[in-house]
Amino acid sequence: MTTQFHLLAVLGALLVGLAVGKAWERYKLRNGRWIDRRRLRETPHYMLGLNFLVDSQVDQAVEELTHAASTEPEALEIQMILGNLYREKGQVGRSVTVHQALLKRPDLTELEHAYVLLCLGLDFRHGGFVDRALEAFQEVLQLDPLNRYALINLQKLHEDQHQWAEALEVRERLARIDAGRRPDDQQILGFLRNEIGSAQQRGGDGAVAARTFAEAIDADARTTPAYLNLGDVREKEGNLPAAIDIWEQLIDAMPEHAYLAFERLERVYRALGTPSGFAALCQRLIDRDPLGWRARLALARHLSAAGQHREAFDRLLDALPHHPHGLAIHQQVWETLASLDFDTQLIRRYVDLTREAVFYLDPHICRRCRYRSTELLWQCPQCREWNTFAHERMVPAKETATTSGDPVMDPE
Ligand SMILES: [Zn+2]
Repeated sequence: MTTQFHLLAVLGALLVGLAVGKAWERYKLRNGRWIDRRRLRETPHYMLGLNFLVDSQVDQAVEELTHAASTEPEALEIQMILGNLYREKGQVGRSVTVHQALLKRPDLTELEHAYVLLCLGLDFRHGGFVDRALEAFQEVLQLDPLNRYALINLQKLHEDQHQWAEALEVRERLARIDAGRRPDDQQILGFLRNEIGSAQQRGGDGAVAARTFAEAIDADARTTPAYLNLGDVREKEGNLPAAIDIWEQLIDAMPEHAYLAFERLERVYRALGTPSGFAALCQRLIDRDPLGWRARLALARHLSAAGQHREAFDRLLDALPHHPHGLAIHQQVWETLASLDFDTQLIRRYVDLTREAVFYLDPHICRRCRYRSTELLWQCPQCREWNTFAHERMVPAKETATTSGDPVMDPE
């Protein structure tokens, strides 16, 4: 995960560097200084540096590019990439120094100026200097109003500080620039509106929050949390049929997220005195998606709560082959078996089914490409790397509640 992110960041630095390299090339040509450019291409250090960069070998890239920069001190792009690499290595002070020195050059074009400011903004953001980062990105936009990098970074800075309305404003600007070419714009606008609504909801203004959640759904019908939140507002207002209605709209719009509404729907159907409405909903979902296990588990819980343990057990065994690693299903199986006084025949059925269904009895995972296998392998069949397998150890959920929840690998 970290290495992937790191590689992306470095490639981003490379792309910014190359974009400016292009601008620099035009600039040099305009001034008829071809020779400088060709001499630069004759030094091997520049290409070596870029190759190391693509290969994620930051230290070697820095070394080669430092060589290249000493042969061609005028080359803006090399200095800029070097600065970005210092930032990636966590040496923010050094990257700020490099980029600030570039800003002082008297012959910068407007585009070059904008790109160096952008790098400086990234340095400040990385170092946690929020105000200076905001200022740098605003300046970039004055020079280059359509700069997507600057807008995205501004949006993220506002998001970091939970300034959702400001973040939304920036994202709307981006969406106007993209003019429908990027499908994720609407999705992000939906999520940002949902955050604004959540803040209004926490502030106790349910009616205003409800309108904002509805706007979030209008912006993008895939904004799952907005349906959940809008239903919560309706439930709190005492309008239970409206809550059911909006949650069932979620199930139609985003069937893969239907389960997020299960607890809510079961509670509200019960409060209305029609718990069978929930069972019927689960059955509709099972019919619609025969491979789905969540609706089967929800229905099993519902049946168990009504004392229908045998029916619940059948549902669970239907669910298990579709998600044999699901601890939630196994737990529910044992709860149900306990309620049925550990009927030996039922336990036999469960054991036989798991023997056929469980895919990885002892999961091992490739640290490089995340390929999974039951055995410990010496060479990964997917990425062909040697000795990358580790036992996959899941950290208990409570310990990871505040972190990413990724599996942790046992370095045994
Ligand atoms: Zn692998």
